[in-house]
Amino acid sequence: MREIYRDLARDLLQNTLTCLGCGDCCHLEQWGHELWMTHLELYVLISEHGLRRPTPGGTCPYLREKRCDARTGRALGCRVFFCRDPHQQAERLYETYLNRIRELAGETGVDLYYGELLRSLGHVEYRP
Ligand code: SF4
Ligand code: SF4
Repeated sequence: MREIYRDLARDLLQNTLTCLGCGDCCHLEQWGHELWMTHLELYVLISEHGLRRPTPGGTCPYLREKRCDARTGRALGCRVFFCRDPHQQAERLYETYLNRIRELAGETGVDLYYGELLRSLGHVEYRP
């Protein structure tokens, strides 16, 4: 997963996507956004940044003072969401890198599960 995220970071540098870092889109319910991810992404997020339970209001619990507190472990959907992306560059990157995660799961014989972030954080059990 680290290799996948590293390659994505390299590809993002080669695109013209901009983010002001305001954190607005991390107020997921307010934004009308469901953040879906594979369980491999969820595992990386929780193992690197701890399990944070969602609170009422539907804001991602990893948001702290308008900044993501989980930058290194954040999911693919976080990395490729750009509210100003008129050419759907980010969507193409998302598909490419989701396929990489699917391939990784296939190579390692892991069944891939998908879940929405807030619901998953509310139910998941994590034992380091
Ligand atoms: S993608 Fe848009 S809403 Fe989200 S942090 Fe960047 S500028 Fe703000
Ligand atoms: S993990 Fe970070 S980038 Fe993703 S929704 Fe939460 S605060 Fe935003």
